[in-house]
Amino acid sequence: MADLMIHRGSSQIGGCCTQISTGRSRILIDFGANLPGEDQTAETKDSEMFQKVFGSRQDGVVYFTHYHGDHYGLFKEIPGQVPMYIGPLAKNILRILVPYIDRENQEKGLPMVERMGIYEAGKWMTPVPGIQVLPLYVDHSALDSYMFCVKVSGKTILFTGDFRDHGIVGQNGRLGRVLKTYVHGPVDVLITEGTMVSRSEEVGTVLVKSEEELGQEASRLFQKHKYNFVLVSSTNLDSIMEFYHNTPENLLFVCDLYQALIMITAMRDMERKGCFLQYRPSRQHRVVRVLGKTDSRWAWLREIGNSMENPLKFCSVTEEELERDGFVMLARKNTHPDTYQSPFETLRDKFFDRDGQIIYSMWNGYLGGKHADQDLLRFIGGRPYQSLHTSGHAYVETIAKMIRLVNPKMIIPMHTEAPEKFARIPELAPYHDRMRVLRDGVGLSLDGL
Ligand SMILES: [Zn+2]
Repeated sequence: MADLMIHRGSSQIGGCCTQISTGRSRILIDFGANLPGEDQTAETKDSEMFQKVFGSRQDGVVYFTHYHGDHYGLFKEIPGQVPMYIGPLAKNILRILVPYIDRENQEKGLPMVERMGIYEAGKWMTPVPGIQVLPLYVDHSALDSYMFCVKVSGKTILFTGDFRDHGIVGQNGRLGRVLKTYVHGPVDVLITEGTMVSRSEEVGTVLVKSEEELGQEASRLFQKHKYNFVLVSSTNLDSIMEFYHNTPENLLFVCDLYQALIMITAMRDMERKGCFLQYRPSRQHRVVRVLGKTDSRWAWLREIGNSMENPLKFCSVTEEELERDGFVMLARKNTHPDTYQSPFETLRDKFFDRDGQIIYSMWNGYLGGKHADQDLLRFIGGRPYQSLHTSGHAYVETIAKMIRLVNPKMIIPMHTEAPEKFARIPELAPYHDRMRVLRDGVGLSLDGL
């Protein structure tokens, strides 16, 4: 026998956890936290998830699709005897990200990150008896994201995780090639993310269509001002690489040590993969300028840099140099405004009114409404800004493409606020008779399919 249950995430974006079970053994895909600001109003709070998933049984293996908090964020609660797996670069990013997030937390997550095993794209695994898992490398705003093809009791489930095909990894029809190469035979169930089904109004209004277009537009914007502050997530590496490569030759490319570590880790791992030119050092900017004093962590930066065939160099930068040469700077919000003034704020105050601009490259929802992020809003502080962002998620036409490519018998939406809307969207309507809305905590037997 085989069954499927979405513990959480069938009708919300984030906080995902899905179970595939033979009855005796099970795997779990993701164990994520609710999105920031959502936990209060969520149907299932983060504090209830352990009980739901591990309350009656502490077995199984957890597969994380990627390093976004809404997919791995509750990892510290996973019982010690439950193995966890994640992509190799995703694990390296978490080694930097988790200590940073935990800097004021009592409970440190790094030992748990070190405990995570890694899977390999295109290699089948049998994590528990009766269930086989094939991780497939996929494009998303988190680098090193995976979808999973799962075989259980003779059934095939394709679980997309968060995906898209308009970033760097998705170029040249990669999605179609990967599916053609690795997914053979009929797919019984496609579980697909549907973030953009409930955010479709953003397409064409606040979003540029692709990472490539984002780069082109960035190049145009950077020509106009000497001091450029780019508000972008430090782990949105496709966008960061586009900003980096499109920094005009006469301006410095600047970030802080944390961002530099993430960037070089990604570039080193992508170099080893041997493709994706956008992840190589730019000829115009072989040196990245890093804010702050040099300390022991610089050795880590240099060590990674030295292990690369085409190394990226790092060098500290003075305010005089910033003033003289101008810059494109990856800026970050300050989450401790009462006790700390960030260098980004100091430099914003010094340079914004002297031919500066702020480029906002994150989800528009953080700027107002129920997801308003006060720290981001404080950085902008009522100043004019340019929005320049592309979605991390599949457009409706990409979901339709996925359905055409795998021709599943059943389609289950998740990671969307509007699962019932799927069948009514013109691009997806032809498949309405295969759609199945599966609510959180409701089991679906796969035996009769
Ligand atoms: Zn994600």
